[in-house]
Amino acid sequence: MATCWYNGKYSPIEECSLPFSDLSIQRGVGVFDSIRIYEGTPFALSLHLERLSESAAGSGIKAEDIMPRFSDIIYGWLEREENKSFDGIVKPYITGGDVNDKGTFPQPRFFVIFDEVHKPTKEEQKGGVTLAPNHLARPLPLVKTTNYLFGLIPIGRAEQKTFGSLYITPEGEITEEMSSNFFICRGGKIITAPVGKVLNGVTRGIILTLAAENGFKVEERCPLESELTEADEAFITGTVKEVLPIIRVGSVKIGNGRPGPVSQALQHLFVKNKERWLERHVQKKA
Ligand SMILES: *Cc1c(COP(=O)(O)O)cnc(C)c1O
Repeated sequence: MATCWYNGKYSPIEECSLPFSDLSIQRGVGVFDSIRIYEGTPFALSLHLERLSESAAGSGIKAEDIMPRFSDIIYGWLEREENKSFDGIVKPYITGGDVNDKGTFPQPRFFVIFDEVHKPTKEEQKGGVTLAPNHLARPLPLVKTTNYLFGLIPIGRAEQKTFGSLYITPEGEITEEMSSNFFICRGGKIITAPVGKVLNGVTRGIILTLAAENGFKVEERCPLESELTEADEAFITGTVKEVLPIIRVGSVKIGNGRPGPVSQALQHLFVKNKERWLERHVQKKA
């Protein structure tokens, strides 16, 4: 069962609720982040909190006073005896609150959810998954908003079961998946959209670091929809998915329709190097 920190205490999530007056409910004003906990230790926590701060700023939510509190709330829970080997996900949220001051939100609410992780299955990790094309530009690419409606609709409308949806601008530039970053491999290079056109994915950044360290060539530009037929491989990255091979986008088969060697090498490198981004709590000196 999930736990939630709200208003100064940790409770079962069923006991927590937001007022209907909150602008996250009324107007969809809310941002969040999602941090993986491996065996009690957060992965890349500082990078996620930095991004959360940018998401709030980009949405007009005034979160300067809230941001410094998340670290203690998260470690406070992880350090309880029963959570010492917690393997799951932590999600800090900042909502618009009740006050809309000409498109800025000076009195946000915030809470943190601690939950189990819904990882892709072994078959999905090994065999790859499919995406539905979504011909739409995601507004405010640098903001991790709680509103996923525009990414969810194409999944619901897809004729076959599909794992996710892929944003493609009306000009045919592929940006990102609904909740992950997207990469193709073509002509010996790994190609992915630049930050700014897409969210600053923490996993994306780590994968680009590992790719460069291991001699892969990387090109940061939007892959084109027309290139999909010529791609040898494709994959997505995200906190929960880590590296997940893509074998089809809509009716277009990627490569030979099976996960390729680059995706598999990066899956492996991620696991092997995970330790480098684990952030153990540094106790403050009294
Ligand atoms: C969360 C998310 C990502 C992936 O970011 P990570 O930090 O790697 O989890 C990418 N794109 C969108 C739109 C997202 O919401």
